[in-house]
Amino acid sequence: MTDRDRLMAVAAEAARRLNAVAQAGEAGRVNRQLIRALADEGLLGRVFPASAGGKQPARLSAVDLCLVREGLARESTAVENALTIQALGAYPIVVAGSDEQIRRQVIPAVRGEAVAAFALTEPDAGTDAGALALRAERVAGGYRLSGVKAFISNAPDADFYTLFARTTPDTRSRGITAFIVAGQASGLKGTALSLISDHPIGRLELDGVFVPDGDVLGDVNHGFAIAMRTLDLFRASVGANAIGMAQAALDAAVAYAGTRLAFGRPIKEFQAVSHRLAEMATRLEAARALVYSAAEAYDRGEPSVGRRSAMAKLFATETAQQVIDASIQVHGAVALERGHLLEHLYREVRAPRIYEGTSEIQREIIARDLFRKTTQN
Ligand SMILES: Cc1cc2nc3c(=O)[nH]c(=O)nc-3n(C[C@H](O)[C@H](O)[C@H](O)COP(=O)(O)OP(=O)(O)OC[C@H]3O[C@@H](n4cnc5c(N)ncnc54)[C@H](O)[C@@H]3O)c2cc1C
Repeated sequence: MTDRDRLMAVAAEAARRLNAVAQAGEAGRVNRQLIRALADEGLLGRVFPASAGGKQPARLSAVDLCLVREGLARESTAVENALTIQALGAYPIVVAGSDEQIRRQVIPAVRGEAVAAFALTEPDAGTDAGALALRAERVAGGYRLSGVKAFISNAPDADFYTLFARTTPDTRSRGITAFIVAGQASGLKGTALSLISDHPIGRLELDGVFVPDGDVLGDVNHGFAIAMRTLDLFRASVGANAIGMAQAALDAAVAYAGTRLAFGRPIKEFQAVSHRLAEMATRLEAARALVYSAAEAYDRGEPSVGRRSAMAKLFATETAQQVIDASIQVHGAVALERGHLLEHLYREVRAPRIYEGTSEIQREIIARDLFRKTTQN
């Protein structure tokens, strides 16, 4: 067994153990007990550097993040979501925070004592995040923030938000600053949203929320780069989450094909079924290869990482959707019953094609890279 296999197995075993805690949570809301348990199992520590209370050396390895996410997703999407949203919420502080901000915010998040969330998207600024409009006005000792954030994972229950707001009008991505906003801040109102899956997610309304200077993250007007650096680290790992779910679906389909009888024989004896399974396994393996090669490129700091992560996220999330759909086809009607693993995965696999850069935007990144090369030739 390689170190990689071991890390994925550790994550998968932990997810199996934590699944009962995950199931006990309220659908669509933060499960604090689960986040605490993820810390107790040492899993949160595995995705943070030692300087922020974690077990990773100087910086987080994208490969390790992928291994943990794939291992968790194979066993429990709720456990996987809880770990990832917590890490995504705290990472802008790892990227740009002062030692004091890391001590105050990130270390409690790694211990599972504080719930984090990443707040970039707005009702009129999703893919086009540089158009965000939530205003941050300079006042004595800090800023007052007003506006709306939408589709924020872990909202409205989070203890703090790494939140991106406009400090300079009409400058698009050059006029955005990152802030740490307390979940209990006066003037902050949140509402839960209910999606197709049980993802904890909500909307935030800020009405003159005061944020002290000590909670500005990095340099004023340089917050967009903090958001992008965070998302660059996570992009390939969205693909790892997707292939974890797809692997669970494929395993279920292979097992079912061996036991389900039709016309007096197991359905795996029909070539239409067995070749479909072979195709699913092949595509899934190709997706996995792309994901881990993009994560390795990230860890090596290669310049091609933007294109490769885009390819990995695009191919893995689209493939996972196809594999889960095909697994349902192999099962027939039984997979559509509420509560069936595949009914659950069918709902869960949809969002990764949208969040952290839609499939269309990944194609845009890949195409731009192709044309940049053509122009250089
Ligand atoms: C489950 C879930 C969790 C999320 N969690 C978070 C979170 O924690 N924090 C956060 O900040 N956000 C979060 N989001 C929001 C997510 O990042 C946005 O939904 C995403 O960026 C897309 O924005 P949008 O939904 O506004 O779609 P839009 O930007 O309105 O896009 C609509 C369509 O237009 C296409 N499109 C737009 N521009 C282009 C273009 N230039 N070229 C080609 N096609 C284009 C898109 O690809 C898409 O098909 C979450 C979303 C979901 C579903």
